Amino acid sequence: MSSIVIFSDLDGTLLSSKDYSWKDAEEAIEICKKIEIPIVLVSSKTRAEIELIRREMGLSDPFVSENGGAIFIEAEEGIDPPKGAALDGKYFRLELGTPYSRLVETLKRIRDELGWDIKGFSDMTIEEISYLTGLDLSSAYLASLREYDEPFIILDKVEDISPLLEKAKEEGLKVFRGGRFYHIQGRNDKGKAVEILKDWYRKRKGSIISIALGDSPNDFPMLEKADYPVLILSDKNYSLSMPNLKVSRYKGPKGWKEEVLDLIKRICRREKDDRDKSR
Ligand SMILES: [Mg+2]
Repeated sequence: MSSIVIFSDLDGTLLSSKDYSWKDAEEAIEICKKIEIPIVLVSSKTRAEIELIRREMGLSDPFVSENGGAIFIEAEEGIDPPKGAALDGKYFRLELGTPYSRLVETLKRIRDELGWDIKGFSDMTIEEISYLTGLDLSSAYLASLREYDEPFIILDKVEDISPLLEKAKEEGLKVFRGGRFYHIQGRNDKGKAVEILKDWYRKRKGSIISIALGDSPNDFPMLEKADYPVLILSDKNYSLSMPNLKVSRYKGPKGWKEEVLDLIKRICRREKDDRDKSR
């Protein structure tokens, strides 16, 4: 019998984009915990932000921070970390991204070369981050504890950002546009992290069936790696095509709950049918 593993984005997926609440998905989260289906949070949020959320959700499964920047697995007895992971406090941490200090330093150099008025999180006070993100001060503080990604704004009116993309590329980095900010980071993405964790789970549990849920382009590499990808409905109309893709009927956590419960039922029924057939 295969084990189900869920990989999930947070903002706009498991968390409502209106108020960051997961209340509408709580019933499904509790069922997953009861029947021991891991929920691996895979977010562009920082380690500190995800730690708080998973603690509040009562999850102890591995998680992936800053868009695939690093994988964190609680270091317990009998747990073998993935290859290349190092012990870091209570976790095994596998670093896939580029360290923050190098991102900040490179962005400043690019800014000086282009002469553009670029302002990164590292140049901002907690109050400014709070104002720009709409997060309260303590959440803004957790968001400022960055390790593998620097969000920034361009204060000039720049029509064409391709010189910036080019320069980042020369440095082996990538720049992309998120919801509120531009971001500079290494070559990491959510899909690479999910691939490693799928292997890790296979070694622990044998055969696995993966479900992945996300609402934005930075989730697409993760959805591609899943047996059952779910695109959570959002205001943007993305047209995606991949095998088994389902688009949720509802936005955010409400969509999450419906799709997860439906998939668990379908997968369990199929597994049972296969078992009956092989008897
Ligand atoms: Mg999202």
